[in-house]
Amino acid sequence: MKLNRVVAWAALVIGAIALVADYVYDGLLRRSLRRLLAAVRGGEEAGGVQRGPDGQPVSGITEVPESGETPVAFPDAELIRSCVHCGLCLPFCPTYNVLGVEMDSPRGRIYQMKLVAEGKISPDNPHFYKHIYQCLDCRACETACPSGVQYGRLVEAARSIIPPRSNVEQAARRAILAGALNSDPILSVIGVGSRLYQRSGLQKLVRSTGILRPIPRLNRMESMLPHLEGSLILEPLPPVVRAQGERRARVAFLSGCIAAQFFPQTNRSTIAVLAANGCDVLTPPAQGCCGALQNHSGDRETAKNFARHNIDVFERTGADYYVSNAAGCGSMLKEYGELLADDPLYAERAEAFSEKARDITELLAELGLRPPTHEVSARATYQDACHLRHGQKIKNPPRELLAAIPGLELVEMARSEWCCGSAGIYNVTQPELSESILDMKMENVIATGADTILAANPGCLIQLQHGLRDRGVHMRAAHPVDLLAEAYGADGHLDSNGGDGG
Ligand code: SF4
Ligand code: SF4
Repeated sequence: MKLNRVVAWAALVIGAIALVADYVYDGLLRRSLRRLLAAVRGGEEAGGVQRGPDGQPVSGITEVPESGETPVAFPDAELIRSCVHCGLCLPFCPTYNVLGVEMDSPRGRIYQMKLVAEGKISPDNPHFYKHIYQCLDCRACETACPSGVQYGRLVEAARSIIPPRSNVEQAARRAILAGALNSDPILSVIGVGSRLYQRSGLQKLVRSTGILRPIPRLNRMESMLPHLEGSLILEPLPPVVRAQGERRARVAFLSGCIAAQFFPQTNRSTIAVLAANGCDVLTPPAQGCCGALQNHSGDRETAKNFARHNIDVFERTGADYYVSNAAGCGSMLKEYGELLADDPLYAERAEAFSEKARDITELLAELGLRPPTHEVSARATYQDACHLRHGQKIKNPPRELLAAIPGLELVEMARSEWCCGSAGIYNVTQPELSESILDMKMENVIATGADTILAANPGCLIQLQHGLRDRGVHMRAAHPVDLLAEAYGADGHLDSNGGDGG
């Protein structure tokens, strides 16, 4: 084994151990390091009270002394100016609704970014960190904003300039976001390990004894684990599945990273539904993680590397469209053009790539859905995944597809466009806030009287399943394509010579 591979694996293992240690002790390592740093710097931060745009004191933001700092290079700083502080987005912001704090509203967060860009507060200000990371990056404020503020780009830019709070955090982030999520062997180990854990009865034992309760973070992660279907070791997806009937398109499918392990049936449903609708479906085995989680948490460089790799791999397929069934991933694919705009080798190719990117529901609506033949008897409600509704502005196509399923009754829930509190890894990093947001969602879900909740994003499905389980509510949680696959009579067997073999 070459030396650099050994070093990379060693870094990965050390990072993973550091992460587990930090989680097990609920951030103890980070807290200790912060205290140490505060002591070295001579205690509390200096400075007076900073006032917000409405003249109200801004909680926790302290002014940097007049001698000040050089303003940091805030990426996309010109976008800050497009906010006119009207506040029309506030009622649509989940964190503002839960916390009632201006600095946890879109307007307040943009104002803090302005202070950072002007050098009035430092990007490592702990309050700036707190308010920026308490944001879900759900982008509901973008949909609501009449001035067209590109809030998603701004919050990701803000996160990219916030320094990590400790070496432990940095190592953990790199190990998970840049390493594990882009490594098939590690993802397979996670998948097999999780299935073994569930099927051996160990999970039942852990949950019934509450043995993990004294370790809050670990307990939280365990409680989020969805019920995993499929065989212990998953069969790889076929690299090519041919269209049924007349071919209407050639598509390349992004099968996802952790979602491919946790929701393998949804990937098989996606391929079956595409084939049933006249698509040759290519699933390139060399594809990697899309980079969404990395980009949302401010690691733009890793996201760019992942984007370049996927562009190389998907271009080689010669497909007409690049399809995703995960709202967050699809949104990222559509942003490759913007992400690599400054890369002389990839800018043009990234732009062309993004133009071909489609969410599965969007592509089916575009092609025109072939009428499903089988009845699916269910009363279902639909949750708008944020990165589909607000990120990709896709509202009607999933609803239209569901309406075409014979026997399916679709009931709208109140505030379906409201985030469920999943938001990437938010439900692990911000457990209390995530739970408060999930409470509101569950109230609306249950009020519909539906027996099925649908969402076109694996992260939402994990969160919704967790919410239902916690409340003892028996309701199926599935991706819309899972129901569509049933409506085409697909049985999960994929035939390389002509769609679903069922
Ligand atoms: S983000 Fe848009 S809606 Fe919100 S305060 Fe700024 S301009 Fe107004
Ligand atoms: S992205 Fe979501 S949580 Fe963040 S400010 Fe906008 S509406 Fe609020």
